Order: sequence, then C-alpha cells, then structure tokens
Amino acid sequence: MKETVAVLGAGIMGRGIAQVAATAGHQVVLYDPYPAALEKALAETRAELKKLAERGRLASAEEVLARIQPTQALEDCTPAHLVIEAVPEQLELKQEILSRLGGLNPHGLLASNTSTFSISAIAAKVPNPSRVLGLHFFNPAPRMKLVEVIGGENTDPVHLERASELMRAWGKEPVRVKDAPGFLVNRVARPFYGEAIRLHAEGVPKEFIDWVMRGLGFPMGPFELMDLIGLDTNLAASTSVYQAFYGEPRYRPHYLQHQKVAAGQLGRKSGQGWYRYPPGPPPPPTPSNPTAKAPLPLILGPNPLAQELKARFPHAKSPEEAQFVLDCRVKLERKNDLPDSLPVVGLVWGHSASSLQAELKDRPVVGFSLVPPVGQGAIAELYTPLSGPNPALPLAQAFFEAQGHPTLLLPDQPGGVGFRILALLINEAISALSEGIAQPDDLDRAMRLGTGYPRGPLEWAERIWLKPVLRALEGLFAELGEDRYRPHPLLRRMVAAGLETFGNLPLHKGDWQIYTHKEAR
Ligand code: NAD
Repeated sequence: MKETVAVLGAGIMGRGIAQVAATAGHQVVLYDPYPAALEKALAETRAELKKLAERGRLASAEEVLARIQPTQALEDCTPAHLVIEAVPEQLELKQEILSRLGGLNPHGLLASNTSTFSISAIAAKVPNPSRVLGLHFFNPAPRMKLVEVIGGENTDPVHLERASELMRAWGKEPVRVKDAPGFLVNRVARPFYGEAIRLHAEGVPKEFIDWVMRGLGFPMGPFELMDLIGLDTNLAASTSVYQAFYGEPRYRPHYLQHQKVAAGQLGRKSGQGWYRYPPGPPPPPTPSNPTAKAPLPLILGPNPLAQELKARFPHAKSPEEAQFVLDCRVKLERKNDLPDSLPVVGLVWGHSASSLQAELKDRPVVGFSLVPPVGQGAIAELYTPLSGPNPALPLAQAFFEAQGHPTLLLPDQPGGVGFRILALLINEAISALSEGIAQPDDLDRAMRLGTGYPRGPLEWAERIWLKPVLRALEGLFAELGEDRYRPHPLLRRMVAAGLETFGNLPLHKGDWQIYTHKEAR
C-alpha cells in the first residue's frame, strides 16, 4: 500500500494537491478547520474528477475521491509519511501548524507550498527541521506539471531526493531550487510584469504590449495574464520579492499596480483589471497577406536576427540595389559607416529611435524591433524619432507587411517592447543562475513548465547570442539611467570569455578549489 499523505488547508491549492496525491493512489487526509472549506473542496474535487473520467482520463472518480478523508482534527494527520501544508500565506500560521504537527508526527516529511516565505524560516520552529522542505506546486495543481523542490538551510538532501522521486511518481516534473526569495519561477518571471507596466507607464498602450508578447510565442500578454492571476496576488508576489531582496530596484513594484488594487480593479475576478470583462482584451492584429512587392533593404549585421532576416526576406545584395538600410546592429556608436543617403530602419534594442536619429543626423530614420526566432505571428515594432515621421516609415511598413508581419507604430522608447521585456527576463535568469538557484537546464525547463513561456530565457539568450543581449542592456542602462537595467556581471564575464552557452559553466558544481596557505606554497 502507498504511503499516507496529509494536506493541510483545503483551498485552491490544498484540494488540487490532494487530488493529485489521491489520483496517484495514496490515502490522503485533507485537514481544514472550517467545515465549509472541506465541503467545498470535496464538491469541487468530485466535479473535477468526474470531468476527467468522462474524458476517459480516469477509471473511476469515486474510487479516487474515496481515498480523500476530510478532517477538522490535526491529530488525524499523525500517520502521514508526507505532509504538505497549503494554509493561507502567513509565516506564523505556517510555522505554528508545522511545528504542532512535527511534534505529533516525529518522522514524516513536512513540506510547505509557500509562494513567498523562506523554507529555512518556516522550518525554524519545527522539531527536527532537516525534514522540512518546500514543494511549490503551480495553480491549478492537477494540471501544472512543475513542482519546485526547495531545500532550506537545514534540509537533509536525502529528503529532497525522496520528495523529487515521489513527485515524478505523481506525474510531475520536479526541479531542484535553492531557498531564495521567489524561489525560481516567481523571481525570474518578475520582469514579464514589471517591465510591461513600466513600458505602459511610458505611454505604450497595454494592448500593444500584449500583442507583441503573444507574437513572440507567449501564451498570454503580461496584462491579460495579470488579470487572470489577480492584480492583488501579482502585486503581493512583487512586493514580497522586492522586500525580501531589501529593496533591489529590479523588483520594485509600480504605483500603477497599487492604484488598481486600491480601486478594487483586481482583474477577471472583479470584472475589471487592466481590461474590462466582458469583453476582455481585444484580439491581436491578423497577419497581413505576404506580397511580392516590397522595397528592398540592404540588411546589415552579423547577429542571428540579421542572419534570419537575410535568409527569409528578399533583400539587396549591394547598396546600389537597395531602397533603404535595415540595420540590425545593436551598438549605436558604429552607425556612421552606412551607405550614403539611404533611409535607415535601425534596430532599437539598446537605444531609442531618437538617439539613432541624433547619431545619423539629417537622414530619414525609424527604429524597429523583432526578436529571433521570428515566428509567423511576430509583430514588427516600429518607432519614429521625436523629431517626427519621415520617409523611412512607409518603407519599413511596406517591407514588413509584405513579409506577412503586422506592424505597430509605438511611442519612441529604447529597447523595443518585446526585446526589452525579454532582455530583462534573460538578465534575471542569469542572476538566478549565478546564485546557484537552479542548474541551467532546470531553469529553462521550470520557466517553460511553470509559465508556459515558449522557450527558457537562457536558451533564448543563446539563440539571440549573448553579446547583442549584453550590448543592448548596456545601451538601456545608459539611456534609461536606472539600476534595474544593469547587465549582470556573469553575462559580462561570459561575453568577455567568448562563451555563448550556459551548459558547461563551472558554477556551483564544486568545481572551485580553495587553496590553503600550505597548498599555495
Ligand atoms: P486559499 O485561501 O484558497 O486556501 C487556504 C485554505 O486554508 C482555506 O481552505 C482555509 O479554510 C484554510 N485555513 C485557514 N486557516 C487555516 C488553519 N489555521 N489551518 C489549516 N487550514 C486553514 O489559499 P491557496 O491559494 O490555496 O494558497 C495556499 C498556499 O499555497 C499559500 O501559501 C499560497 O501562497 C500557496 N500557493 C498559492 C498558489 C495560487 O495560485 N493560489 C500557487 C502556489 C502556491
């Protein structure tokens, strides 16, 4: 017979975790002090299991349900080999309930599903804290594959291995993560929301930001996703990571978030958040019909974006043949070597179109951004300098539309929408990597599974190349003048060392040696 599992708290997460454990064949004790919460949990689990059975994904809903024993008595959880707490997110409550149960049950593994608290802090009050760990499930627990397995300062690694094995047996994908604020996914994902809100505050319509991110392959844009998660929940996560890092500017929430929450605009659940429900977010622009008639550009740049555009789009082989220059180079200072007189459509990854215009003096200039790999639904972002529209704009529009990519004309700001958000996700992933929060493959896998990102941020950085990412971040840091854009030193070191992949970095793998005085002699 399989081991008994106890789940504390029968809310959204607790009942989902109980369902997963019972489906995997365990006897489950589901504890909640409130009878109404238990009743609701069982009713919703029954409905959920029935749906699965009707679709043929489960033999018998009643059989699984019969394995879940609801209780209002904590003592009933004493025989459990594994306890998972999913009580409300209050540190004292979690400490108190796990230490009480730890006294009653001296040998069981004690796991917390906390989203924000340190596992070491939760374990501090528990008898024998070596058995306390984090099992961070994602919502909805029965459907989301990812479970972050987190060891605190005192957790015995044997227990982490045991818990990971069990998660695999439950059909989950465990990823080992270090105990740090936001753990892995909630930390690395912060710029997806934070940077989107900043861009919006700088005048970019939220719909445009959502459309561009969808065009990059994200299942939802940041604003529609915040509406789904709940603006209050999202703000609480941002605030907790920001505070836990002692005010690190990268995680600072924006006043717009607070304002919305204070006004009760919490997202779908309150009928209005960033959008009103109904009708919800407007649909993205549809791809235009590819046509053969397009102005020919001379495409410049060695990076993967330039390579991809050269491979896929018709382009001039010489300046004489070209009607404009499509300059994919990131560094602003090298822009003085362009063929004479042609209008320029220049990449804005590290600078605004206005800065590019200043560099190129009287020439017609617009900025553009696209991120490789340029998929079918990708939107070409266009930026006119503050000096106003000029003849480069219709050329850029005609060119991208002819290739089937809708264009959006956006308020001038450095970085481009999609690239700026992505560059900060990459920078954050590198920061987590440098702190040993997770191994590179695990990091990318966790981001794909936990958030539905089309690819992991490290894998994406390799695809774009690390050097353009670094140069763009340097440009953003210089032009925006904010600490949050500073490139991570590990990214700098990797570019300096000519490294282009994360796989074999000698990080946190015990590759370092400490030379004692004696050895040094
Ligand atoms: P919830 O409010 O839906 O459920 C909490 C449950 O705990 C309720 O049923 C409540 O009756 C019960 N409860 C209250 N006081 C209790 C006590 N003293 N002892 C036992 N149970 C008690 O909350 P939730 O969304 O399920 O979140 C639970 C935990 O999971 C939190 O730590 C949260 O941060 C974490 N989490 C939530 C999500 C999410 O998306 N909701 C995702 C990952 C992790």
